[in-house]
Amino acid sequence: MSERSAAYAVDPAPVSVLPIAGSDLVFPVHRVYCVGRNYAAHSIEMGGDPIREPPFFFQKNSGNLDAGGSFPYPSASSDVHHEIEMLVALKSGGVDIPVADALGCVYGYGVALDMTRRDLQAQAKQLAQPWEVAKAFDHSAPCTAIFPADRIGHPTHGAIWLDVNEARRQTGDLNQMIWKVPEMISCLSGLFRLRAGDVLLSGTPAGVGAIRRGDLMHGHIDGIGDLEVRVV
Ligand code: MN
Repeated sequence: MSERSAAYAVDPAPVSVLPIAGSDLVFPVHRVYCVGRNYAAHSIEMGGDPIREPPFFFQKNSGNLDAGGSFPYPSASSDVHHEIEMLVALKSGGVDIPVADALGCVYGYGVALDMTRRDLQAQAKQLAQPWEVAKAFDHSAPCTAIFPADRIGHPTHGAIWLDVNEARRQTGDLNQMIWKVPEMISCLSGLFRLRAGDVLLSGTPAGVGAIRRGDLMHGHIDGIGDLEVRVV
């Protein structure tokens, strides 16, 4: 930028922010990276082979994260699925971050949903097209506030589950992740220069399924907290 910056031709989009539990500060979101098929049982249910597949990533938009507690059923789909995931928020970044240094980049954690237009995703897979219409739609990532790692530590094991209308749909344990958080950060930093504000969604355990208007989704991760989201 020059010393005298030019005026914007149109209003700039606002910076997307997430609340931080126990703080008046908010977390400014830069990018959202999601990892696919990171729990073996879910990889198998989606037709994959968890042994041989390297991690693969896709993105959502920063504004797709929504800590407001409701999920508007999106347009253009009749098969919208829940995927309960751990959210990882970065306080620093860089390139080629060694696995051993990666947790030093983590600001905190949250509970999130990677909501997916499964019908559009299936169509995209069939046609070898990108996934944005299936994954990166408005409000597609309901989440909790961020819980700072200096208060809760770095969760590596413990239950992750999702109930819909008080019936258990998804269950797993954080220790079942094929690619652990430090490996994900290290791998991503070989592809992109990571920076403070980047957010990762770390994949979902088995049991994904459809939701309908009026449903109440209740997600939980041991050591982090609970997420309640109403489909409206
Ligand atoms: Mn996912």
